[in-house]
Amino acid sequence: MSDRRCAVCASPAASGCSGCHAVFYCGKPHQKAHWKQHKPACVPYKIAESPELGRHLLATRNIRPGELVLRNAPLVVGPKQFSDALCLGCLRPLGPSVHLCQCGYPMCSPQCAAAAVHQPECEATRRSGRRLEVDVTVSPNPHYQAVTVLRCLALRGTDAWRQLQQLQAHEQERQLSGRHAELDDHALQFLHYLGVDVSPQEVYQICGVLDVNGFEGPLHRAVGLYPRAALLEHNCSPNTTRTFEEDLTLVLRASVLIPKGSHITTSYADPLWGTDNRRYFLRQTKYFDCTCRRCADPTECGSELSSLRCPDCSDGLVRCTAPLEPAVPWRCSQCPRELSATEVVQIMQHIGEQLVNVEKGSVTAAETFIRDFTTVLPPTHFYMCDIKVRLAGSG
Ligand SMILES: [Zn+2]
Ligand SMILES: [Zn+2]
Ligand SMILES: [Zn+2]
Ligand SMILES: [Zn+2]
Ligand SMILES: [Zn+2]
Ligand SMILES: [Zn+2]
Repeated sequence: MSDRRCAVCASPAASGCSGCHAVFYCGKPHQKAHWKQHKPACVPYKIAESPELGRHLLATRNIRPGELVLRNAPLVVGPKQFSDALCLGCLRPLGPSVHLCQCGYPMCSPQCAAAAVHQPECEATRRSGRRLEVDVTVSPNPHYQAVTVLRCLALRGTDAWRQLQQLQAHEQERQLSGRHAELDDHALQFLHYLGVDVSPQEVYQICGVLDVNGFEGPLHRAVGLYPRAALLEHNCSPNTTRTFEEDLTLVLRASVLIPKGSHITTSYADPLWGTDNRRYFLRQTKYFDCTCRRCADPTECGSELSSLRCPDCSDGLVRCTAPLEPAVPWRCSQCPRELSATEVVQIMQHIGEQLVNVEKGSVTAAETFIRDFTTVLPPTHFYMCDIKVRLAGSG
């Protein structure tokens, strides 16, 4: 801290730029004097606060498509609560040959076992005197459900811990939802098995913070907490894209022109899912009902991602009549045919089950799926997009 110098006069710095935290000043007068020069290099957003949205980010100038909006190193990264066995050093899937760390966790190499990121669970396990026996074939794997919680607990007493405490956890809603309560209790039991000194409330809070604020890294392999990016508002047609650097630093770029004063948004749900699936996911994990323009539009902004083919006419598309209302009928764009909400759910469940069962990497199975459902789903439907993405990946 003490080696920070004023960008204008080089005397010891008292404060920094509250936007980028990258330049420091002896006091307000020099910060003011430097602003004109610093502005182009500073972050293009400010943190705003409102009763409905809480803290959120607003563009302080026009941001061009492709331009960097923010880079944010994670406070913590680790496996998701539901995770298969993976290397706890590099968070990649385990290869055919594994290196068993002294703690019992399988890693890809001695280097990964020695990685700083692995030490919280490694030390806790060794201190407990227990040696874990991890069956890597179990999915999801119970040995990984509390690892990221342990990594959070290892931050206690640091600035990162204080930042973590400021993130929303929605503990009450989670406790009311049996699924979360059960999962969180499993994590708690595992931590107590290792003799970790932690209260149920602390575990519930950390699990909530991870669920509500966590971003999944590339290939969904891990979850990370990003204090700046956690302030991003959700939109199902976001104006930014997220990528990750090798060390899982999150990089956010504008995907369209973001005019000065507008809200900077990201999508917490998979943008390639249909409206019902996105809204269900957001309610279950983020505890809000999305009412964005795309969710409110029966055509999903013209993408027709959720629309079905009409069973009665040749070129009609059956769309939900009011996507933000529960259980409303779906109606054809060309003829009077209607489907009830229940009928649509049944159709989607049936096709969804078939999609899950399509053998991974099999071109024939993917093509059979497309042929079987081409009379029900238009090519724009998100199930069709999903299977075509898979076909492209396996080719
Ligand atoms: Zn100065
Ligand atoms: Zn700045
Ligand atoms: Zn590794
Ligand atoms: Zn270890
Ligand atoms: Zn939405
Ligand atoms: Zn029709």
